[in-house]
Amino acid sequence: MGIAENLNAIKEKIPGNVTLVAVSKTKPDEAIMEAYDAGHRDFGENKVQDLAAKQERLPDDIRWHMIGHLQSNKVKYLSPFVHMLHGVDSLKLLGIINKEAARHARVIDCLLQVRIAREETKFGLPEEDLMEMVGSEAFGEMKNVRIRGVMGMATYTENSEQIREEFRLLKRIFESLKASTFDHQDWFDQLSCGMSGDFDLAIEEGSNLVRIGSLIFGPRNY
Ligand SMILES: *Cc1c(COP(=O)(O)O)cnc(C)c1O
Repeated sequence: MGIAENLNAIKEKIPGNVTLVAVSKTKPDEAIMEAYDAGHRDFGENKVQDLAAKQERLPDDIRWHMIGHLQSNKVKYLSPFVHMLHGVDSLKLLGIINKEAARHARVIDCLLQVRIAREETKFGLPEEDLMEMVGSEAFGEMKNVRIRGVMGMATYTENSEQIREEFRLLKRIFESLKASTFDHQDWFDQLSCGMSGDFDLAIEEGSNLVRIGSLIFGPRNY
C-alpha cells in the first residue's frame, strides 16, 4: 500500500480527538510530500539537523514535532519554528527553550518526558523529579514555554500486558501533575504514547497523541 492509503487506514482507526504525528525520520522529502498531499500536516523527526533541513525545504504550514532527545545547545536551530518539543526532561533544558522562545517572541509547546519503561533507559524523568521540577520557582517564572502534557516510551517488548501497565503509569502521572500543578491550565491536555506496534493499546489507555512511523512510511533502513 502507498503512504496515503496507510495514513487513511490509521486515521479511520483512531478517534477524532487523537493527534497523529507522522514520524518521518530517515525518510526522504518525497515520502513526506505524499503524506502532505493527502492532507497531513503533523510530522515528527528525532534529529535536530534532519528536522531543520526538512523544514527549510518543505512547505511552511507543516507542524514539526521534535520527538527525540534534545540537547540544550541545539534548541536554537528549532526555536524559530518548531510546533512542539516532546522530549523535555530537565529544568535546565526547559530554561534554555524558554530563553530561545523569548528571543523569537514565541511560546513553545512542550511535553515532559516521563520514565515509564521498566527496562534501563536514560531518557525521561521519574515522577518525583517531575514533581520537583514543576514545583520549582524557576519553572514558575518561565513565560515562554507552555507545558502541554507528558510523553512516554514503553519498554521494547512483545509483552502487551507490560506495555499496558506502563501506559497506565503514564496516565496516572499525567493526572497527578494535572491535579497538583496544571489544574487551571486547560492546555495541559496531551497524553502522548503509542507507536506503530501499540497505538491502539495506547489509545485504549487514554493516549490522545500517537507517533507513528513505519506503519505509514514502511520500515526504516538505518
Ligand atoms: C521512531 C519513533 C517513533 C515511531 O516509531 P514506529 O515504530 O516506526 O511507529 C515514535 N516515537 C519516537 C520517539 C520515535 O523515535
